[in-house]
Amino acid sequence: MAGVALTSLAGSGAAACVSGSDRVLRRAFTTMSSAPIGVGDAIGATRARIEQLAGELGLARAPRLVAVSKTKPLPLLLEAYEAGQRDFGENYAQELIDKAPQLPADIRWRFIGALQSNKARPLVHGVPGLTCVETVDRLKVANALDAAVASSARCASTLGIMLQVNTSGEQSKSGCEPTDARALAAEIAARCAHLTIAGLMTIGAPRPALEPGTDDPDFACLTRCRADVADALGVPAESLELSMGMSGDWERAIRQGSTSVRVGSAIFGARA
Ligand SMILES: *Cc1c(COP(=O)(O)O)cnc(C)c1O
Repeated sequence: MAGVALTSLAGSGAAACVSGSDRVLRRAFTTMSSAPIGVGDAIGATRARIEQLAGELGLARAPRLVAVSKTKPLPLLLEAYEAGQRDFGENYAQELIDKAPQLPADIRWRFIGALQSNKARPLVHGVPGLTCVETVDRLKVANALDAAVASSARCASTLGIMLQVNTSGEQSKSGCEPTDARALAAEIAARCAHLTIAGLMTIGAPRPALEPGTDDPDFACLTRCRADVADALGVPAESLELSMGMSGDWERAIRQGSTSVRVGSAIFGARA
């Protein structure tokens, strides 16, 4: 995807809509790229590649493309929306609470950042289009989300969540321990009537040196965790989603069973 990442920065037609630093980047890249494309084209190219891969792998349905728009200005999100994108991921609660009311109501927002339990209520109440919180890694956060849904206008239906697992063991990464996913899932299922466990999510360590065709150990670990969680919940593993893969490794992630890829810089350009 490096080609798309580079060229998506260079769309001259969208230059009026981008922030100052992006504009500088776009200008810089325009001189390097003979075929500049904008956010809409990057969305189209990424989706086409996902569908091609899904066909190659014989998947019943193409994995979801989540456009990760953290720190990006509204006009760029609208460009993606106009290209048909509806699933967006954001990392910061306040940024999402600010952005959501200014954008179309049929956007499905996915929260993919570290969540403090005291932010659960403003997030759930402030973002009616919130579809999934992918970063639940402890019961305290699940309980806070559950209470927030119960006290909101959406209390008649459940909020989707994913269990974030720290598959790489890096201290800097959030997520529960792989061995704790099963117990966490069981506790949430037993106590949080307003939440639905939709699947599992990992970020994983960057592995630029991984040979093509070899499995990423973080993705393999998340797949094993899914089997544990499915067993604990008494559901088929395939009924639980796997959110794994970002700009640099989403193709590999899909080959390893990802059902939802989170792509930021390859669509919107590098973040400042
Ligand atoms: C920022 C972010 C992404 C997107 O990363 P890119 O490398 O820009 O595609 C995906 N997932 C999470 C959790 C993120 O924080």
